[in-house]
Amino acid sequence: MKVKVDRDVCIGSGGCAKSCPEVFRMEDGKATVYVPEVPSALEDKCKSVAQGCPSGAIKIEE
Ligand code: SF4
Repeated sequence: MKVKVDRDVCIGSGGCAKSCPEVFRMEDGKATVYVPEVPSALEDKCKSVAQGCPSGAIKIEE
């Protein structure tokens, strides 16, 4: 599973980086994904982080 952040849509709440720092981090006030592939153990966590993103900027690609 891959995950992407649309940085044009991200409002920089920081929620994803706080909830799942293994996958997301903040850069210049917006979130970025720094792993090419989400480890399987973190897939469910990433899905709920994506659902909880206030701007809908996180896209999951199966
Ligand atoms: S949770 Fe959404 S809006 Fe907040 S930093 Fe992450 S991608 Fe951006």
